Amino acid sequence: MSNPLSYLHDQLEQWRAEGTFQRLRILETASAAEARFDGKQVINLASNNYLGLTTHPKLREAALAAIRQFGVGSGAVRTIAGTMRIHMQLEERIAAFKNVEACVVFQSGFAANAGTVSAILSPEDHIVSDELNHASIIDGCRLSRAKIHVFPHKDAAAAEKILSELDAVPGRKLLITDGVFSMDGDIGALPGLTEAAERHGAMMMVDDAHASGVLGRNGRGTIDHFGLDGRVHIQVGTLSKAIGVLGGYVCGSRDLIEFLYHRARPFLFSTSHPPAVAAACLAAFDVLEAEPERIEQLWENTRYFKAGLKSAGFNTGISETPITPVIVGDAALAHQLSRELFDGGVLATGIGFPTVPKGKARVRTIVASTHTKAELDTALEVFRTVGKKLGILGAGA
Ligand code: PMP
Repeated sequence: MSNPLSYLHDQLEQWRAEGTFQRLRILETASAAEARFDGKQVINLASNNYLGLTTHPKLREAALAAIRQFGVGSGAVRTIAGTMRIHMQLEERIAAFKNVEACVVFQSGFAANAGTVSAILSPEDHIVSDELNHASIIDGCRLSRAKIHVFPHKDAAAAEKILSELDAVPGRKLLITDGVFSMDGDIGALPGLTEAAERHGAMMMVDDAHASGVLGRNGRGTIDHFGLDGRVHIQVGTLSKAIGVLGGYVCGSRDLIEFLYHRARPFLFSTSHPPAVAAACLAAFDVLEAEPERIEQLWENTRYFKAGLKSAGFNTGISETPITPVIVGDAALAHQLSRELFDGGVLATGIGFPTVPKGKARVRTIVASTHTKAELDTALEVFRTVGKKLGILGAGA
């Protein structure tokens, strides 16, 4: 009998032939600025651990204390028996930090986006969405079955044109953008989009996964960065990147949060965080407020590394944040660049279609506050050497 899954094998073979098949690299140490993957010590430019909090002593201690006191699991979904006091404390803490009425924490940023958009909209509604929004937003939009209208990247005028055309059309309108775009590292067009949403009575939603802990006062995100407090109805953040742990959250009005408690499917149907996760996240918010120098160092490293890549002659696109892509175009070349960098002692992931559009394949770098200048210099040297070898940089570069 033929194997009904053989088409998967055929697809994998095709990816192997195209050079885009990806083997998982195994991390054998903690996730840190330097780490060992597959037996090799490398400078880690691939993690979202922007502030080095994955290994911060205060977070470790908080997690251990929570395990000793409460065990390792919460035992149930939030709405049945899995809401621990520490979950509520974390939500209150985040709401205060973000200067909003209320907050709900999800198991991941992905669950926060997908669970929220799909809960608050119905098939008769309309979503106006940036073309480069994260996959979790796109999935949430699809799950809602609302009509999806995509506008060109960061083009607030185009978004407003769509909203104008929808003025006479029944249904609710949601305008949605990433705060920081994860593949290009540029900042969303929040001021223009917020004004457009206000002019047309649309809900405004921002996914600040890569801005949480990175932009705004003490890492409050893009809404704080642009001074838009009180004007963005739905703010999503993640606890998995700069916060160093795991999870996602939605901030907004008390009504929004209570509604999500009743209707967001990941909240209703998937077990809540272990207490250690909530405890470590709480400690992370203390660190954000007590150690602002981490964010300053992150930005200093960002400026230094970005300038180094640019002056070497790499195409770093339109990045404005610690995420800096090195765009090479061809996916096989991006993966080859990533492999050669790794051999040279630098981990930076190759990314191709469908994560980025065809012809825009890249290696993505993310610096952290914990990289030393010596590590960044070494990484730049490896980039230059490999860039020349692969013909990405001219021989004279
Ligand atoms: N939004 C954006 C823009 C992201 O980059 C990511 C992570 N890749 C997420 C949401 C999902 O966050 P999490 O990893 O916490 O699920």
